[in-house]
Formats: sequence, structure tokens, C-alpha cells
Amino acid sequence: MEQVTHFIGGERVAAERYLDITNPSTGAVIRQVADADGTTVEQAVAAAKAAFPAWRDTPPAKRAQVMFRFKQLLEDNAERLTRLISEEHGKVLEDALGELKRGIENVEYACGVPELVKGEYSHNVGPSIDAWSNFQPLGVVAGITPFNFPAMVPLWMYPMAIACGNTFILKPSEKDPTSALAIAELLEEAGAPKGVINVVHGGREAVEALLDAPDVEALSFVGSTPIAEAIYSRGCANGKRVQALGGAKNHAVVLPDADIDNAANTLMGAAYGSCGERCMAISVAVCVGDETAERLIEALRPKIDALKIGAGTQPGLDMGPLVTAEHRDKVLGFIDDGVAAGAELVADGRGLTVPGHEQGFFIGGCLFDKVSADMRIYQEEIFGPVLCVVRVDSLDAAIALINAHEYGNGTCLFTGDGEAARRFADQIQVGMVGINVPLPVPVAYHSFGGWKRSLFGDLHAYGPDAVRFYTRRKAVSQRWPAPFEKTHAEFTFPSGG
Ligand code: NAD
Repeated sequence: MEQVTHFIGGERVAAERYLDITNPSTGAVIRQVADADGTTVEQAVAAAKAAFPAWRDTPPAKRAQVMFRFKQLLEDNAERLTRLISEEHGKVLEDALGELKRGIENVEYACGVPELVKGEYSHNVGPSIDAWSNFQPLGVVAGITPFNFPAMVPLWMYPMAIACGNTFILKPSEKDPTSALAIAELLEEAGAPKGVINVVHGGREAVEALLDAPDVEALSFVGSTPIAEAIYSRGCANGKRVQALGGAKNHAVVLPDADIDNAANTLMGAAYGSCGERCMAISVAVCVGDETAERLIEALRPKIDALKIGAGTQPGLDMGPLVTAEHRDKVLGFIDDGVAAGAELVADGRGLTVPGHEQGFFIGGCLFDKVSADMRIYQEEIFGPVLCVVRVDSLDAAIALINAHEYGNGTCLFTGDGEAARRFADQIQVGMVGINVPLPVPVAYHSFGGWKRSLFGDLHAYGPDAVRFYTRRKAVSQRWPAPFEKTHAEFTFPSGG
């Protein structure tokens, strides 16, 4: 069976232990992935540390040239990468291509690194004194990524980290690691010297070794909230810079004046695209007024029934399977729980079988009505094709509901009322807000991040915040007095007067 190895110091490195990779559309084990222990992580840290001094001293414009070539290679290999993503994750091919393209946008932004790190300069801050701030790389940095965007989330991290002069160790999700490895190898083909990008595979043991490695200066994590919180605490306790992005429960508010057809069409993609396995997926529709709820449900129901579901690698489908059998069972558990708690299951996707793929991890689209804030299906992230309708009687009630939720990743308002839109965008305690845009994922030149328990740390992912996260500011004051200027001892701070 094909083995997905580590990639350390420019070499593929085999492991003593391997984990199975399953194709979720068939249920079959298709590859095995290396499972790193502490010693393998030490090797990767040593390789990244050795590569750092020369890479730090490489001019930013030369580092940018590597990114330009990397972008081209990613585009040239898009078909192969898209197939790998779809095969291991289960998402449909078109969606896998979309994920790759959003990842490439981060490489494009990193191509501008000479401009982004050029710093700030002030002439004559004192007699014959000039001052400047510049942004220097940290050293070895690491990234730990989730299964749901196996190509895009690593590309949120290391193109900018590396363009800024750091060297990088990626620990991808063990569920679908093959595209992440293939992409990292393309960066080396683009001209990154050996050891600048390294990939170690595995699970908790590999992550903990990275968290405890003294030479890892900073760590970016994207995954579920309990792990994000644990990683943030341990990394910070070890003196590292950490950003840890966690889970979500994203609400879309539908006002009575909204264009319901439009809202229903876009909600279909936002709720059921990628089988709901997106941290920005809309999983709650908050309808203002009973009539709005009924109109929305009437519009959604036939669309849910018409969802084209099958193996992700078949073209022209809307939805593939969930990522693993355990995850499918967890989602089914949530659906049973919602029914038992008294929510009305208007569309029931349980029991779906896809002919020819009977062992795949499929669930059809599910829609709950009359969900209330005390139900587990409302409170917790389900991460499946399940949309919950909550009915409220005003926009203010909708805002209060969302603001009381523990997560604050994304949200959206459907309306034709500018004042309502402005109030919503202003008052909502959520990091990414859409007005008639259900998936308000920022473009690569803005930054991505939630509030509350959706993000631990100060800086968001990618965009301008990534430049700050992966660099350290240095402020230099320099004096070159003319020969006739005499310095003398000063025992007080200059008053500037
Ligand atoms: P996960 O938390 O299970 O795993 C994420 C990473 O952490 C993986 O690389 C995994 O190997 C590692 N990991 C798992 N258990 C660990 C442990 N005990 N100790 C140390 N490391 C561990 O998440 P997932 O299931 O792969 O991804 C889905 C989750 O990610 C969802 O909650 C989703 O909302 C979240 N997510 C968030 C964002 C965001 O930007 N906020 C983006 C994508 C996904």
C-alpha cells in the first residue's frame, strides 16, 4: 500500500508507525500515513533550524521569486491536487478546486513580501539621529491544520511565514494528508532550499513534541476549540507565540424584508456545501417572525430533496460524504438528540445510501425547525449537513441570541434594509460578518479570524495579521554625529523642549 512519508530537510523520511487513510466515499483504506514520535519531530526542528540563517539572509525579493514559481506550480498541478483532496476528504471536485484557488490567493499575497516587511523610517528624530522599525523573522515556526481544508489552511500559514524569512514545520491532519505533502514538495521544486519547508505527520504525540520543542518560536493552529484552547495554553506556557483558531456555530439572520429565494439559494451552499464540514458553514438560520421561517423552510425543502449526493470524485455533484465513520456517527447522534429534545425534523437525511458506494459515510441534508437555545443541536458545533431554524421576534432578539453564543466565527444578515444591516454589523460580537453574503470569508489581503471561543490569541490568520504574527518588530535608533558635534553625558531623559 502507498505510504505517505514525512518530508524533512528536503528528503522523504519513512516512519516506524503508520496510520490508515480512508476514502470516505467507499469506506476503503487507500493509503497509510507516517505517525511521528518525538524523535522525528526533533529531526524536523533541527532541519528547519539549520536552514534558517541562510533563508533569513536571503533578500525578500528573492524569497518572493520562489513564491511566484510556487503559484505557477500549484496552478500547473491543480488537477492532481484537486483529485487527492477530494479522494481523502470526500468534498466534490469543484469544491476542492475552489479550496485550492483560495489557498493560491495567499501565495499571491506572499509574493508582495518585500513591500509588506519594508518597515517604517523616521529621519532626524533627534540631533543627527534617524530611527527605523523593521520586521525580522522569528526562526522556526510550526503549523497544525485540520482535515476540512487540507490544502487551503496550510496555505494560509506557510507561504507568508516562509516569505517573511522563517522556516516551517507543517503537521497536517492525519485524515487527509497527501495533498498537503504534495503541495509542500512543490514549494521546494519552486526553489525553497532544503529544510525551509518540512512536513511531519501524525497526531497528538507529534503536536505535543512541537509544542514542547524549545527551538519552535511560534505556532499556528486551526482545528476544534478544545484542542485550540489546550494548544494555546501549552504553547504560551512554553514561551511561544501562538494563534489557535477553533470551532464555530455560524448564524444567518433572515429579516422579513429579505429576498427569500436569494437567501434560500445561498443558504443551501453555505449550509450543505462540503457536507457542512466548514468552519464558516451556516448551521443556524435565525428567522425574524413565524411567517419568515415558514417561507424560508418552504423554499429550502425542495432544494434539500434535490441535493445531488455521491462520491466526491464524480463530477457534477453537490455534496459528498462525511470524513470518517466516527464523524458520521457523531452527526447522526446529534440528529437523534435534536429529535428527542423536541425540535421538528423537517428534512431527514438519515439512512441515505448511494448506489455503488454502500460503505461510504453519507448523510443527506437535514433541516430542523423550532430549535431553541437550550438544545444541544443549537449549542454545539455539529459539523455536518444539518441546518437549524430558530424563530425570534425581532432583529434585536437575533443579535442578543448570537452574542450569547460561545462561538463568534462568522455570521450573516439577509435584508434589504440598510439601517438594519449597519446596526447588525456594528453590534454583533462575531469576527467575520456578511450582509447578504452567507460565507464572509475574507480575501487573502484581509485577515481571517473569529471572536470569543473561535480564536485564542491576538492576531488573525493570513493577510496583514500574518505578517505581524510571523515577524518581530525591531526599532533601531542610529546617530552619526558630524565631526564638530560633541556629545556629552546626559542624566535625564531628553525633554524634547
Ligand atoms: P481537530 O481539532 O480534531 O484536529 C486539528 C489538528 O489537531 C489535526 O492536525 C489533529 O491531528 C490535531 N489534534 C487532534 N487531537 C489532538 C490532541 N489531542 N492534541 C494535539 N493535537 C491534536 O479538528 P478537525 O476535526 O481536524 O477539524 C475540524 C475542526 O476545525 C472544526 O471544529 C472546525 O470548526 C475547525 N476549523 C476551524 C477553522 C477556523 O478558521 N476557525 C478552520 C477550519 C476548521
